[in-house]
Amino acid sequence: MYLKRIEIQGFKSFADPVSIDFKEGVTCIIGPNGSGKSNISDAMRWVLGEQSARTLRGGKMEEVIFAGTENKRPKGMAEVTLVLDNGTGVLPIDYTEVAIKRRLFRSGESEYFINSNQCRLRDVRELIMDTGIGVDGYSFIGQGRVDKIVSDKPETRREVFEEAAGIIKYKGRKAEAQRKLESAEGNLNRMNDIILDIESRIDGLKIESEKAREYAGLSERYRESEINITLKNIENLQRKNAELKLQFDEAAAAIEDARSRRVAADTQLSFLRKRDEALELTGNDLRGRIAENVTRTANVKNEALLSDERRRGVERDKLRLAEETEGLKRKIAAEEERLKGLLAAKAVNDAGRFALDEELRAKTEAAEVRAEAARASAKGLEAKRDAAFEMS
Ligand code: ATP
Repeated sequence: MYLKRIEIQGFKSFADPVSIDFKEGVTCIIGPNGSGKSNISDAMRWVLGEQSARTLRGGKMEEVIFAGTENKRPKGMAEVTLVLDNGTGVLPIDYTEVAIKRRLFRSGESEYFINSNQCRLRDVRELIMDTGIGVDGYSFIGQGRVDKIVSDKPETRREVFEEAAGIIKYKGRKAEAQRKLESAEGNLNRMNDIILDIESRIDGLKIESEKAREYAGLSERYRESEINITLKNIENLQRKNAELKLQFDEAAAAIEDARSRRVAADTQLSFLRKRDEALELTGNDLRGRIAENVTRTANVKNEALLSDERRRGVERDKLRLAEETEGLKRKIAAEEERLKGLLAAKAVNDAGRFALDEELRAKTEAAEVRAEAARASAKGLEAKRDAAFEMS
């Protein structure tokens, strides 16, 4: 397995996409101070899952995204892809070329990919585990640490190379095996102690075993006695059971008898109930009719009282009318008397009026005679006056 290529875009000083090919074997990157060499190793650490911004020489993780320069605007996302040759199959994945990619957005959202398939950081870690290229190992020796390693104690130096060579994991396994061995030894010692303890208790156990055997014999006898007692009990119970069965049969017959009597009683009861219901209906009908009659009687009584009252009123009216008739009769008699007087007076008046009419007629005739005479004398005078007038 070896590093084939790294592609960087928007990461630290690499604003635009950059692809650096690494040929198999020793490769180095040279450049003036501040040209971005360390940024490349930071990119490698980062893409392999580095979580410490400080290790990447920054304050916050977002600072790895290109921050912009005088001529270039800041980027919104950093992306690094590490392409590894897996021809030897060191990485536990069925690809001869493996591309591990990490992306970070300014929002803080982070994404990982293995061969363009999105995955978790854990998947990336599991992929490179035990290959010596993890960020926690010594595959990455940061600037300034080389001096320290060279001048360190030989054991520390050895650790560095062992880690870089991937030996540390075997050392870890050896330590784990040793720990397990020690624990097994401890267990063995404890077992020996237990065996010694048991051996010291063997005599006592022999006596106890004797007692146990005796106990087993006694238990056996006890069990036999118990079986005999139980058999006796079973016999007694069977006898009792037979007696109880007899009693039960008698009781069952009595129950059956009671049941049939109960059925008869139920039939009688239902007949009586029906009759009771019929009587109840008749009673209700009679009660209704009685109530009707009572109402009718009351109405008749009321009407009789009203008729009495009316009859008394009629009698009172009859008396009053009789009195009034008497009064009218008296008035008629008085009026007839008065009429008689008036008729007598009328007859007198009629006689007087007849005499006066006769007198008026006689006087009218006399006045007629005198008026004729006057008219004749007036005519004579007229003739005289006309004659006189003619003569003049
Ligand atoms: P030296 O030899 O001093 O270690 P170097 O070649 O390793 O230098 P780096 O330290 O990798 O260089 O790069 C430093 C440069 O990267 C600086 O110019 C710095 O301004 C730039 N830089 C770092 N982070 C960012 C960022 N987020 N955005 C833009 N530029 C950045």
